[in-house]
Amino acid sequence: MSDKAKMKIGIYWAASCGGCDVVTTHINEKILDLIEVADIVFWPCAMDFKYDDLRQMADGEMDVCLFNGAIRNSDHEELAELIRKKSKVLIAFGSCACFGGIPGLSNVTTAEESIRRAYLEEPTTLNPEKVLPRLEVRAPEGDLTLPRIWDTVHTLKQVVDVDYFVPGCPPTAELTGSAVDAIISGKLPPAGSVIAGNKALCDECDKVKKNEMRMIEFKAPWETEIDPEQCLMEQGIVCSGPATRSGCGAQCTKVNMPCRGCFGPPDGVEDQGAALLGAIASVVSPPAGKSIDDVFSGLRDPLGLFYRFSLADSMLRRTKISK
Ligand code: SF4
Ligand code: SF4
Repeated sequence: MSDKAKMKIGIYWAASCGGCDVVTTHINEKILDLIEVADIVFWPCAMDFKYDDLRQMADGEMDVCLFNGAIRNSDHEELAELIRKKSKVLIAFGSCACFGGIPGLSNVTTAEESIRRAYLEEPTTLNPEKVLPRLEVRAPEGDLTLPRIWDTVHTLKQVVDVDYFVPGCPPTAELTGSAVDAIISGKLPPAGSVIAGNKALCDECDKVKKNEMRMIEFKAPWETEIDPEQCLMEQGIVCSGPATRSGCGAQCTKVNMPCRGCFGPPDGVEDQGAALLGAIASVVSPPAGKSIDDVFSGLRDPLGLFYRFSLADSMLRRTKISK
């Protein structure tokens, strides 16, 4: 294939940890197939591309852009809008772009409180002068600016139209490979599709339900000797499997760790946290002498349990409004 006919691909990160960028390099020999047919024309995390390179592209010039990370500040929003304009196909890649992910948990507070916590109150922060980030700073080299952090973390589709979703924290190398195959072959699924399974994770988990499900207490994985064949919920360990999309190969439950929900809700479920809460509430059965409240008081970190990856995309979306 001549260079002229090559596809143009972009990869961009917004509010994310970098794991999604790392997994794009884990597709092994498929990367060779990809570079045979495509040029990476924008990937600021890995190569020295400037935003002006993007601004100078014609609208729709990039064939596909994989966008990872949530929308946390003015820079992310500006780039999301620009990338949308420059891309024929925009893929929300990873849980943060799809559902807000871990950054979305900051929707329980405000930008001001997050900044105060990070710069002044964190036990590991050393900041005796109490310096806080400013939007503009005058330096000898010229005026420097920082993006404005929003109070509310958004998903990519809350800001621009998205064509496909590849969930996961990060997406597995297999799913990334499937997305790359679809891009290379031009056989992309119908617009709006989630490139993953479409059932609940319990359908691909090979643990068996040995008893009638009845949770009498909640346990952390390290507080019990786990039967590797039995469903973790039956053993008192809360697992997000009933409210999570399949497609990862049940890689956490395979090693006896409960699913944390990084693939987001399956088809037909609007709110992952509410669905998981409903699934648990239907099987909690207090032992004699204990109430439902007694059992639920043993549930640690309910926000992180029910909405670890999906708060920004949930019906709640945020729980605290800035004054
Ligand atoms: S609840 Fe968790 S451990 Fe039980 S079947 Fe579903 S995914 Fe597997
Ligand atoms: S088992 Fe759950 S948390 Fe683990 S990778 Fe799969 S969807 Fe994500």
